[in-house]
Amino acid sequence: MLVARHTGPTGWSRPRIEPIRCLPLHPATKALHYALECFEGLKAYWGVDGRVRLFRPLENMKRLRASAERATLASFDPGELLDCLRQLVRTDLAWVPRSQEGALYIRPAMIASEPRIAIGPAEETTLFIITGPVGPYYPTGFKPVTLLADPEFARAWPGGAGRSKMGSNYGPTCRIQLLAAEQGCQQVLWLFGPEHRITEVGTMNVFLFWRCPSSGRPQLVTPALTEDLILPGITRSSVLELARQWGDWEVIERNVTMPEVADAIQSGRLLEMFGCGTACVVNPVGAIRYQGQLLQVPTMSEGAPVTMRFFKALTDIQYGRIPQHPWADIV
Ligand code: PMP
Repeated sequence: MLVARHTGPTGWSRPRIEPIRCLPLHPATKALHYALECFEGLKAYWGVDGRVRLFRPLENMKRLRASAERATLASFDPGELLDCLRQLVRTDLAWVPRSQEGALYIRPAMIASEPRIAIGPAEETTLFIITGPVGPYYPTGFKPVTLLADPEFARAWPGGAGRSKMGSNYGPTCRIQLLAAEQGCQQVLWLFGPEHRITEVGTMNVFLFWRCPSSGRPQLVTPALTEDLILPGITRSSVLELARQWGDWEVIERNVTMPEVADAIQSGRLLEMFGCGTACVVNPVGAIRYQGQLLQVPTMSEGAPVTMRFFKALTDIQYGRIPQHPWADIV
């Protein structure tokens, strides 16, 4: 693991890579009481050429810094932390699965570590990075998920912290995930507001591929990053950039409501729907439970060509099947 500590008077300690161990935490540690913490998630991939790659890791470091700012934790230079992270991955090289499906998961985290029971901004920050190998997300092939879209529940709200990767956004979702499972749903489609805007799927950003109601032309649509409702995913921005480079369809970031999605399904205009994120790359959506109905999404009916095109393009970069790419960071 990598550890560094920041205090007001001394600034950052020299980061250390050391065998993984328990952290000594006083029971009054602020992070344990007020969730004053944030984290990141990225992976190291064993490439076809035997080189290990990270995928746009500077973006994760910048997002961590933004989350840390929201959580009043100490700031840092994203490039410097990336140098530290690369050094940790070099140390852990034996743990990177030699497969084009697995990866080494990397979890940077920052916590307010001072023992102080009074609520207030962080006075001491402990930063650590731990790693662990993960296997394929789809060991038996792509499985479309069923989503629970229930406007009773919200993940984030305007003026809140939904665009930050703070643990306080995630803990409260676990119970809703359980309720979804009770209704046969694998993920929650997070809705917002009286018009039931779609925002995210579980811990993924969401994309629709449909024919525009007015022009009939194919469009790739994802909710816009407004009002702090949505985590700005690195996979999301990569999907958008690829789609704009390809230029095959209109690419649109805008608010989309659940009634619009239901209408697109009923009129046969919705072709594919998928979640995207570091864990799965893309996750096809097969059905949505909404207001007492189970809406069937035809994502897999033609083999999900658009979703699969993104999966291939992104994993080709991650596993070095494209030997050099500006998004691939060789460790
Ligand atoms: N939304 C949420 C709420 C998430 O936790 C994640 C995972 N970080 C994502 C979207 C996808 O982000 P990324 O593509 O950077 O993994």
